[in-house]
Amino acid sequence: MRIDKILANMGYGSRKEVKGLLKQGVVKIGDNIVKSPKEHVDLDNQVVSVNGEVVVYKEYVYLMMNKPPGVISSTEDSEHETVIGLLEYEDIIFDPFPVGRLDKDTEGLLLITNDGQLAHQLLSPKKHVPKKYYATIDGIVTEEDIKAFEQGVTLDDGYETKPGYLTILTSGQESEIELVIMEGKFHQVKRMFEAVGKTVTYLKRLEMGPLKLDETLELGEYRELTDEELELLR
Ligand code: URA
Repeated sequence: MRIDKILANMGYGSRKEVKGLLKQGVVKIGDNIVKSPKEHVDLDNQVVSVNGEVVVYKEYVYLMMNKPPGVISSTEDSEHETVIGLLEYEDIIFDPFPVGRLDKDTEGLLLITNDGQLAHQLLSPKKHVPKKYYATIDGIVTEEDIKAFEQGVTLDDGYETKPGYLTILTSGQESEIELVIMEGKFHQVKRMFEAVGKTVTYLKRLEMGPLKLDETLELGEYRELTDEELELLR
């Protein structure tokens, strides 16, 4: 790969700024100062450094965020803060995007990456990737609701959901539940409860496929996936 592309991708500035850096003679491939932006680097065998600091090249970034409420899970929004806006510059340079959407008021597990292929695998309806949610519900959740969700319920637009697996954690005027669904229709969890006459008052995603929310992350915090988590996703 060209040296100017590597440095630009790793956040050393625009291609033009990188050209300036190269001119200054602070960029080396191995022990050799390189000044031409066109110089090719064999990333498997050569070491690039800037001002003596080794540049570790990576193409993809994989981040797990505990999405806070009040933030939109998209890359841009003219009115509201987005999850991408919560990232540090060093992560934004990879042009990452959230894998799927959580509602503005939903919290919890959000994967953010620039790996389109992985995102496609996780989001494709054909792959039936399970998503686990924790929710509080206004009203008593019943055994009938469990059965109804297992058989599939009809949403307000006539869509028949695939089976969903409901666990009642506590039951009362406000109930706590966990729900696993294999699809991701717009507002699906909220609309499934509406279909059985109940309202979701709080919603948090706990799991997506093999990925589990790291509960040590505060709302709005994020971290890179570990190698083990990445391995599980692939
Ligand atoms: N279902 C919903 O209703 N909202 C979400 O954010 C995710 C799933």
